[in-house]
Amino acid sequence: MIKLIGIKKYFTTKQGTAHALKGIDLHVSKGEIFGIIGKSGAGKSTLLRTVNLLEKPTEGEVILDDVSLTSLKEVELRKQRRNIGMIFQHFNLLSSATAFKNIALPLELAGVDKKEIQERVLYLLEVTGLSDKGDHYPHQLSGGQKQRVAIARSLASNPKVLLCDEATSALDPETTKSILTLLKEINEKFGVTILLITHEMDVVKSICDRVAVIENGEIIESSSMVDLFSNP
Ligand code: ADP
Ligand code: ADP
Repeated sequence: MIKLIGIKKYFTTKQGTAHALKGIDLHVSKGEIFGIIGKSGAGKSTLLRTVNLLEKPTEGEVILDDVSLTSLKEVELRKQRRNIGMIFQHFNLLSSATAFKNIALPLELAGVDKKEIQERVLYLLEVTGLSDKGDHYPHQLSGGQKQRVAIARSLASNPKVLLCDEATSALDPETTKSILTLLKEINEKFGVTILLITHEMDVVKSICDRVAVIENGEIIESSSMVDLFSNP
């Protein structure tokens, strides 16, 4: 489903060159919930952002469903990106728009007709447990509700893959649990493959099928959750 092959990413700054990713190989299977865990600065965010090429790797190849994203022209890449949803630690909602409008926006930009948008958004509000929150603005919503809107928005274009960038790090433990439960439901209901990054072991423990540990731009361990915790 997702294949990262020999991904290297170097940032050149005034201070010199930062080797953020030093040759990452990763395969995520269809329908899997795959977690990448590591400390701050390990390269998690850079790695996640190379999957949809928000970050262009210095070297290496990104393949999604047999399509090599790294070899595509910008126009083609834009089309492929509709297969990849993303959610963030700080939700990244448009503060001047209602929950409904936030979810509708990507569909409007994609030129979907009004009636279809209406139906799709109402459905997504329902799926994410926000049926009575469509006309609320972000400042009228709790953190968990905001993340639900962001999840609904990320699903608007029916993506095959959902990238989660520290999606629960700004939430309290209770809310974290409910958001992880929602992600698991989405994974099961729609078959969406989930790739998440986190610095919290509890997150990977609760929903991931497999996990990779990243340190200093390298994957130092990768295994199924079962194997990870049956090791002495
Ligand atoms: P994490 O998400 O695990 O905290 P990051 O992927 O954000 O780690 O960062 C990995 C390394 O790459 C860090 O050393 C960071 O300083 C560096 N880095 C990330 N983005 C940039 C950038 N835009 N310019 C320069 N260095 C960067
Ligand atoms: P536009 O930006 O195209 O002028 P709106 O974003 O106000 O229009 O609304 C687009 C469509 O979505 C309209 O049919 C409107 O009735 C519907 N809509 C907007 N907000 C909500 C909501 N909270 N619940 C249900 N439908 C809504």
